[in-house]
Formats: sequence, C-alpha cells, structure tokens
Amino acid sequence: MEKPSQEVTVNQARLAIIQGDITRQATEAIVNAANSGLMGGGGVDGAIHRAGGTAILEECKRIVARQGRLPTGKAVITTGGNLPARYVIHTVGPIWQGGNKGEAALLESAYRESLKLAAAKKLASVSFPSISTGAYGYPLAEAARVAIKTVASFLKESAGSLKEVVFVLFDSRSYEAYASALEEAV
Ligand code: ADP
Repeated sequence: MEKPSQEVTVNQARLAIIQGDITRQATEAIVNAANSGLMGGGGVDGAIHRAGGTAILEECKRIVARQGRLPTGKAVITTGGNLPARYVIHTVGPIWQGGNKGEAALLESAYRESLKLAAAKKLASVSFPSISTGAYGYPLAEAARVAIKTVASFLKESAGSLKEVVFVLFDSRSYEAYASALEEAV
C-alpha cells in the first residue's frame, strides 16, 4: 500500500513526497535519472522509456547528435510521449565514488538544472525520482538531504511558475529517508 504523502509549503509552492511510480505521475514534467548517453537503461530510466514509448528515445538521440553526451549535473527536456506527463527532463546524477569527488555539488546541480529547465518552460509542477541512489550508489540519507535542500532553496529564491514539486519514492526505505530529510529541513 502507498504511504500517505507528506508536504510542506515553501514560498507558496507545495513540496511533497509520496511513495509510488513516477511514470504514473500527472505533473507537467517528470525527471529521469538518466545516464550521459541518453539511450535509456535500467531502473527509473528504463521504466520511463518503456512507459513513454519511442518518441522519447528519438528526441534523446537527436539531442546527443546535436550536442554530444550529457555531462553529469546537466539536464535536457524532451516530450513525455505516451506518459501522463507532457515532458521528461533528463538529468545525469553523479556516480558515488566515496564522497570526495564533488558528488554533492554534482547532485545539487542535477536537481537545480532540472528545476531551471522546468522554470524556463513555465511549468507549474514537476516530479523527481531519487536521483543517483540506485545503480549510481549514492548513500540514501545524504542524497535525500541534498535533494530536499536544493529544491527548497530553489523555491525560496525564485518566485516563478513552479507551484508543486513532488518526490516520487519507489520503495519505503527511500520514502523514509526523504521524510526524515523533509522534517530536518523545515
Ligand atoms: P541512478 O542510476 O541515478 O542511481 P536508478 O534508476 O538506478 O538511478 O535509481 C534511482 C531511484 O529510482 C532508486 O531509488 C530506484 O528505486 C528508483 N526507481 C526505479 N524505478 C522507479 C519508478 N518507476 N518510479 C520512481 N522511482 C523509481
């Protein structure tokens, strides 16, 4: 069963966490924890491409042909294809290498660049998965703190279009980590 969501209000925007499947979210955009090649993969990346259909991959291929591989910490936006979300924002989180290789700054950048794209498109709502905490091995509690802190400070700084940011956590362990980070942050 899904856990009830938890939320706070930051600068008139809703910052919420839920446990669930991001491919089913009806926010205007969902964020994909992609890899630099933008060719799909496992985890949430594979789930998004499976649910969204080939239009997403086609657009990713055009982006890579035009600008090359997507560097860690950067983001690009494509159609949502068959997803309920109109757009997918693809970002590349860092691979955990022990914590002294700039991982925290890169993870913060992945969230911030995604939010900047959403704001540039004047989107009102966006959902994030827990970037880097699956195959990329980033310790969950630390990643959750970076994620919540970065989104909260972005919402504080910018009186923009974004009225709702949702973290969609796939499993209860991730949900609990984000719930703790949310409690710490407010
Ligand atoms: P990364 O390579 O950035 O670590 P992963 O996809 O391996 O990305 O994992 C990131 C997080 O996404 C993990 O917590 C994983 O459980 C979660 N995840 C996997 N599938 C989904 C989904 N459909 N919706 C939301 N989160 C998902």
